[in-house]
Amino acid sequence: MAIISEKKIAEIVEKADIVTIISSYLTLQKKGRNYWGVCPFHQDGNPSMSVSPEKKIFSCFSCHVGGTVIEFVKKFEKINFPSALKKVAEITGIEINELKNYAIKEKYSDDEKMIFKLNEEANNFYRTLMFSQLGKTAHEYLSSRNILNDQISSFEIGYSSRQASLCERLLEKGYSKQQISDAGLGTVYDLEIKDYFVNRIIFPIKNEDNYIIGFSARALNDEKPKYINSRENLIFKKSQLAYNIQNVLRMHMENNQVIVLEGFMDVISLESIGIKNAIAIMGTALSEYHIKLFKSNKMEVKLFLDGDLAGINATIKAAKALMRANIKTTIVDNNTNQDPDELIQDGQKDFVISRIEDSTHPAIFLVKKMWENVDNNNPDSISQYLTKIGDFIDGIKDPVIIDKTILLLMKLTKLTQSTIIQMLRIQSTVSSNKVNGNSKKIFVDKQENTIKNSKPLAREVDPIIKKAYEIAEQKVFVSLLKSSQYLDKIAQNIELIINNNIRSAMRGIISEYRCGNYHGGNPEQALKLIEDRIVDYRNQIELILANKIIMLDASEKEIDDAFIMLNQYQSYLAVHRAEIELKNATSSEEKMLIMQRLDILRKMANKMKR
Ligand SMILES: [Zn+2]
Repeated sequence: MAIISEKKIAEIVEKADIVTIISSYLTLQKKGRNYWGVCPFHQDGNPSMSVSPEKKIFSCFSCHVGGTVIEFVKKFEKINFPSALKKVAEITGIEINELKNYAIKEKYSDDEKMIFKLNEEANNFYRTLMFSQLGKTAHEYLSSRNILNDQISSFEIGYSSRQASLCERLLEKGYSKQQISDAGLGTVYDLEIKDYFVNRIIFPIKNEDNYIIGFSARALNDEKPKYINSRENLIFKKSQLAYNIQNVLRMHMENNQVIVLEGFMDVISLESIGIKNAIAIMGTALSEYHIKLFKSNKMEVKLFLDGDLAGINATIKAAKALMRANIKTTIVDNNTNQDPDELIQDGQKDFVISRIEDSTHPAIFLVKKMWENVDNNNPDSISQYLTKIGDFIDGIKDPVIIDKTILLLMKLTKLTQSTIIQMLRIQSTVSSNKVNGNSKKIFVDKQENTIKNSKPLAREVDPIIKKAYEIAEQKVFVSLLKSSQYLDKIAQNIELIINNNIRSAMRGIISEYRCGNYHGGNPEQALKLIEDRIVDYRNQIELILANKIIMLDASEKEIDDAFIMLNQYQSYLAVHRAEIELKNATSSEEKMLIMQRLDILRKMANKMKR
């Protein structure tokens, strides 16, 4: 993508008639100097959005969305920034040479839009049935679970009857068997097509843009399976479900907090007691999709998963991924065997509310949870426990949390502060050296190794090779700061970046590009956006930016070469590390194993060079 200067963007914003353009999307009324309309970005009853022709901005006082006309078009049409820019420029009659051949990218393809349309038709059909005579049993079942009419309406719950065929209805309306089958609403048998959901209560699942991506359906009787979901298709992906996200994004929230639950029934139950900012990941693990979703909407996360062992493990894994992405995270400790829905059905509303209010930092949660399984009389058990805690808190920078963790550990283990600090630190050396084997053994070995590590063990890495790798790495980094031209290539190869700090900064910039917050051309602004991440190594980055040679524009070939260089350096380092290990190996058995590995690594490294 070409870079368009800030000046050009400012010119377009200045010349564009913001009132006319926004009026083409919604009705605006003039009141005083400004124009007012119903905000399309949250569930708005009264006109909360103002448009200022003087300041050339729009803003909503309720959900706080705002910006220039380009941002409005981008958000309303769900397109990317250059597409919105091109649209506004065209309406305004300004030509942007850089975007002449740029095709406006719509977020959804025609095939995807067709599935949305069919799902919408299906949803209307199911909802009508729910309130008909045929839906009587379904209705009764829902009221037995305290899901009453207002929730049936707001969650758009429907019913698929044996006596009314959705497929027939859709065929009558002119849709083809292929389209119905592609949407997963019917299954083709020879010449016939039959409904996929039969005699079930239907819960539509929407995405962040308020489109129905699929359904979850509960059996009415004892039929197995109790729940079935839509088949995976173009838009329905098991790892990309966030039930109720459309409502959460459209409400005005304090702190922008979202509660993450396991099942959609938990969401409906929480809503019934007035907690509306919850989504469900529907029994799957938290994925990259969710992280991106929270990040781009600047959300804080409260994890409220099940209290069983699988639930706890899922919670810890999810918390780690969220913290790595710099998303503020707390954990609701569900120390019962019941899920939130069961607790609420059981009349424990107050308990649920207080659990949510008392959610804690993941490190504190982990310390308390894992202590339950430690044998207090067994030093091995305690040291394994501390190893795991150390591994988890490695990377947490908040000194208050670290302090709290240590104090809590002292209280639980009755060890002294210095012992705990020492043991937690040793862990971080272990994990960076990636030694496998029995954890107690690692622990002892590493204690000796940390002392040895303070002196150089073998020959140093060749400084010339090291310098070449550093330059390659910094070139890639700087080109990412400058533009999104090589964004995909860089994102794909990000693991090759060896320097942790630079890699972390680059991850931040990539996500800012993808969320549309950064458009290239302004390294200062980019660093500001990822400020939190680079706190500890800002100087290092500023030094890179001060280097005139590295700041030169890089061609695509230079970027490719840089990655080849980084790849070679990775294998060079692997060989180097193995050589050191070999030198320190004590038993002949260990030496043999390392030599075998070294042999393979050297062959790989040679292959790379060619
Ligand atoms: Zn709004």
